[in-house]
Amino acid sequence: MKALAVAAAAAEGLGRWVLDLLLPPCCAGCGGALAATPPDGVPGCAACRNGLAEPLAHQCRRCGARLPGGRRRGRGRCAACRQLAPAVPPTAVLGPYAGRLRALVRALKYRGATAKAPLLGALLAARVRERGLRADLVVPVPGAGARVRRRGLDHAALLAQALAEALGLRCAPRALVRVRNSPPLFGLGRAARRAALLGAFRAEPALVGGRRVLLVDDVLTSGATLAACAEALGGAGARAVAAACVARRQRRCPGRGREHSGGDGLHR
Ligand SMILES: [Zn+2]
Ligand SMILES: [Zn+2]
Repeated sequence: MKALAVAAAAAEGLGRWVLDLLLPPCCAGCGGALAATPPDGVPGCAACRNGLAEPLAHQCRRCGARLPGGRRRGRGRCAACRQLAPAVPPTAVLGPYAGRLRALVRALKYRGATAKAPLLGALLAARVRERGLRADLVVPVPGAGARVRRRGLDHAALLAQALAEALGLRCAPRALVRVRNSPPLFGLGRAARRAALLGAFRAEPALVGGRRVLLVDDVLTSGATLAACAEALGGAGARAVAAACVARRQRRCPGRGREHSGGDGLHR
């Protein structure tokens, strides 16, 4: 059995070597040439693997928001997590929706660049482990039907699949469904977002009952969508819910407690 496994690994290595020769691999993050496909099969250069995620110490321990001054004080939570009952599940986030993270998300979402998913999945898996978030099942946040149809692919499901593979977990793309399309959330405050999403999701008790679920989405804005999904999962018997998002778009207007969203059609 052991000899067979060694032979299979050698064949796989040889296959990868031949493939690398025919189709020189390049990094899914920066497009730079790679000498060879890395052993884990994730096409990412060292700079992108190590430099795309911001340091964990700069983030809120609960929601992944950037802390003022980039430093943890006290229990390391942002103002929103300190003040509000935490409806948003603990969330692993790579960094702000800007620069290369933004470019990667947009390439996956709007240009169908599915080759970006394994790199983002591997980076998110590392952050989920760093955060100590435990799960049995990975579930994507369901896209709004018309928007997904227009783009022709469900990027959250692709990310969830890649993350599940990197974590060695099962992905259940249909465990959570959108039962009603919500109006675009862009420009709405926290309470209005919550009201707009009330009853928008339904979870499948047979799939999530008794399990720890890791929700996956591309961009975190106010957290209202994650909170609504977590509520539906909890109602269907999930034991615990955590989340992982590639990037965070969360800026607070000082003194007014309102989030601002830049405008490129993200409604979460
Ligand atoms: Zn790179
Ligand atoms: Zn927070």
